[in-house]
Amino acid sequence: MRTNNLMDTLNSKSSFADREFSSRGHGYWQNKQVSAADWNDWKWQLRNRVTTLKGLEEHLTLSEEERAGVLLSGNKLALAITPHFFNLIHPTDPECPIRRQVVPRVEESWDNAEEMSDPCGEDSHMPVPGLVHRYPDRVLFLVTDRCASYCRYCTRSRVVSGVGEQELHTEFEAAFRYLEKHTEIRDVLLSGGDALLLSDNKLEALLARLRAIPHIEFLRIGSRVPIFLPQRITPELCAMLAKYHPLWMSVHVNHPRELTTEVKAALERLANAGIPLGNQSVLLRGVNDDPTTYKTLVHKLLQSRVRPYYLYQCDLIKGSSHLRTSVSAGINIIEHLRGHTTGYGVPQFVIDAPGGGGKVPVNPDYLISQTDGFTIVRNYENKVFVYPEADSTPLPFEIAGFRRD
Ligand code: SF4
Repeated sequence: MRTNNLMDTLNSKSSFADREFSSRGHGYWQNKQVSAADWNDWKWQLRNRVTTLKGLEEHLTLSEEERAGVLLSGNKLALAITPHFFNLIHPTDPECPIRRQVVPRVEESWDNAEEMSDPCGEDSHMPVPGLVHRYPDRVLFLVTDRCASYCRYCTRSRVVSGVGEQELHTEFEAAFRYLEKHTEIRDVLLSGGDALLLSDNKLEALLARLRAIPHIEFLRIGSRVPIFLPQRITPELCAMLAKYHPLWMSVHVNHPRELTTEVKAALERLANAGIPLGNQSVLLRGVNDDPTTYKTLVHKLLQSRVRPYYLYQCDLIKGSSHLRTSVSAGINIIEHLRGHTTGYGVPQFVIDAPGGGGKVPVNPDYLISQTDGFTIVRNYENKVFVYPEADSTPLPFEIAGFRRD
């Protein structure tokens, strides 16, 4: 395994170092006499998460905004960062793209009229506590409120981590009864929180119960554990998951630096267990809102056998204004990917419609017009082409090759 000098790799913004898969080893913990067995034990990683101001300041020089943010985070969304992920944080740069995702800032306490505690309207689509039924044939099952680390932009921060304004009280038996009764549901997504924080036994009991419902065709797990806590992806876990196919997984990577050697190996273990992997990233100011960084990310995902699936416009979650960026920034990223790199590397950019409208795709405009049996389109080079429908009369002029500025 390649171990890079910590400062060499952290001292870069989308530089060559971010394009490589590398390991930070024990990083900030290298002088703490941690055995390899402990370091590679996911329970040790969880027990040794950085959860306090003192823990952060042991390694990082915090800005005033960050110090104030940590002190205020106790009643909004807890602070917790696994040692593995903490090792990706730059010690002095508050603009570090990893640091912006997990270290609280005072802006989280700012009031903003358009922001909401439940921006996707999940609570109003819950027929049973913990089960969100918004789309016709699929449900979101919130099976825990805990995560390996906490993302400061979390759309479910009202319930996740146990310190926010609501508590999650999923009614499992009522949820199973609802699923048994609603034969139109063919797809169940396990999320939370993070389902991969459940023990193997608990998770298996859940999967087995769902698999026993004949009309449920398709199971999915949404998880950031392979990124925050790659040690959790044990061979035993993979073997257990493989018993419940078809089982798909959506992981959550925002910046190429998150794809370390350990994370790549964990993703490969999941892929080798036959689990198709997709990535859902959130468009975040100062993290991944430029095309170069995003292209590096999708290339590293493909190398890790993960298909970029969604790029989300950041939800209007309370306290997220410093992390949200424009919709145009997302469209610009797609414009720089489509046609310029492998099609498998282009995610669908979506806005989760505020208040509960569901995911709405947003794309650069490639369709110029559709009239009289002709569809006029442009390609990634801004060249314009005419596609005649069947039975259309030929256009009297040559338009192909026209270049739109
Ligand atoms: S891992 Fe997912 S659920 Fe957990 S804090 Fe991050 S975004 Fe929220």
